[in-house]
Amino acid sequence: MYTDHHSAPAGHTPASPRPPHPPRVAIVGSGISGLAAAHTLRGLADITLFEAGDYFGGHTHTVDMTLPNVHGVTTTFGVDTGFLVLNERTYPNLLALFAQLGVPIAKSDMSFSVQAPGAAPGGGPLEWSGCSLSTVFAQRRNLLNPRFLRMLADIVRFNRITTRLAEQGADLRDNSPLLQPLGDFLRAQGFSNEFRDWYFLPMMGCIWSCPTDQMLAFPVATMVRFCHNHGLIQVTNRPQWYTVEGGARQYVQKITANIADKRLSTPVQQVLRDGRGVRVVTEGHVERFDAIVLACHSDQALRLLGGEASANEREVLGAIRYQPNRAVLHTDRSVLPKSERAWAAWNYERSASTSVESAQVCLHYLLNRLQPLPVMQPVVVSLNPQREIAARHVVGEYAYDHPVFDLAAIRAQARVPALQGQLNTYFAGAWTGYGFHEDGLKSGLHAARALIDAHRLAPTAQCTAALPGVFA
Ligand SMILES: Cc1cc2nc3c(=O)[nH]c(=O)nc-3n(C[C@H](O)[C@H](O)[C@H](O)COP(=O)(O)OP(=O)(O)OC[C@H]3O[C@@H](n4cnc5c(N)ncnc54)[C@H](O)[C@@H]3O)c2cc1C
Repeated sequence: MYTDHHSAPAGHTPASPRPPHPPRVAIVGSGISGLAAAHTLRGLADITLFEAGDYFGGHTHTVDMTLPNVHGVTTTFGVDTGFLVLNERTYPNLLALFAQLGVPIAKSDMSFSVQAPGAAPGGGPLEWSGCSLSTVFAQRRNLLNPRFLRMLADIVRFNRITTRLAEQGADLRDNSPLLQPLGDFLRAQGFSNEFRDWYFLPMMGCIWSCPTDQMLAFPVATMVRFCHNHGLIQVTNRPQWYTVEGGARQYVQKITANIADKRLSTPVQQVLRDGRGVRVVTEGHVERFDAIVLACHSDQALRLLGGEASANEREVLGAIRYQPNRAVLHTDRSVLPKSERAWAAWNYERSASTSVESAQVCLHYLLNRLQPLPVMQPVVVSLNPQREIAARHVVGEYAYDHPVFDLAAIRAQARVPALQGQLNTYFAGAWTGYGFHEDGLKSGLHAARALIDAHRLAPTAQCTAALPGVFA
């Protein structure tokens, strides 16, 4: 349980009195990381939330669509185009936050399918999905395709090997063989190209929105630890996945409702620091704050600090790169596998050309499977679509950059705690963890906690309740 060092029993003089005025804190970025920091600091600090975009939420981006519902009546409903799912095992803080805010969740489907053009024996597309035995063999001819059967055998072997590694405790010590890049590991263990191209890279690409060449450079330990924790390499006892019913913007709205000073379409241009605090430069304005939480991406944070960044900040933030992704929300079913039997919640499309493949991952989220939607018509978010989607089907297009977790990045992450609070600057972002929502949430909580401690702000009951994992 968190020990409240700063409040004292009635009748006693507190050892470290709270400052007379709450500190003025700027938070840059309204993704989960910035919102988590703001939520934790509410009532303790005087917060100003800066958001460059024209909506709050960052990668939490619910968009309204209007389509005929199952009864033929035109209806408007929210769909998520970025953050979509969480599970009961590895998102304890997010689940606690949703429960605290009264945000409704519903069960989600985490099935995945693969389309590999030209990979079928006759030269056509190979299609399969992991929903059931019938969908694994959605193309019945694969029952007699030795390459396909080899892939299936390799999946079983891979799950066995990696589960054993995880149980032994995959570590990141400098001499650990598990620092080996994934590509070398797959070769050394004799996994087939079919396993790599039709299962492993698609699955990992879906999870990390990460292209093939980056994926193959991942350290084995990171992949093993992550997949084990998320139940991705277990055949049984997989965690249940959930989504926010009606759209994830609901939690964004609930948190921002409590922030008096929140500014949309207000990109911070520069952050200047001195002995008295921090100055935030926006277009035509310079404002003074006592502290700042940079809850934007690592590369964006480094740009804001510019030439004033310390050597440590430059090294750490500079080592964690971001990769651009283009997301298109649409209703064009032609991007999904030809055989409807092979449709899944996450549909990976392998590129016909290897060069495109290694540049960007292409996957199609079938939102009807991921979220409870009132319509039958397929609603799809395509990440980096390889084929153009007809404009008449397109609802919107969005840019969502994703962190790249190579070995340099993973080593740099270990140095983030040492940056916190230097020159009244705190860092938060999903980039400090595995890149997921729980990571962003935890990073915001940690940044807020460091700020609370540095400014001797007494954690209140509401604050402790907002930090079940971090303050426990
Ligand atoms: C397509 C896609 C789907 C995903 N789905 C899931 C999922 O289902 N589950 C999951 O756990 N994770 C998912 N993720 C991962 C997701 O990125 C993280 O979960 C998380 O939302 C990232 O939060 P963040 O706060 O670190 O960054 P962001 O949400 O990107 O927030 C950063 C914010 O900072 C703002 N900003 C940047 N610079 C400035 C500036 N100079 N001034 C002011 N504001 C600025 C940006 O506009 C943005 O709003 C997905 C990612 C992608 C790309």
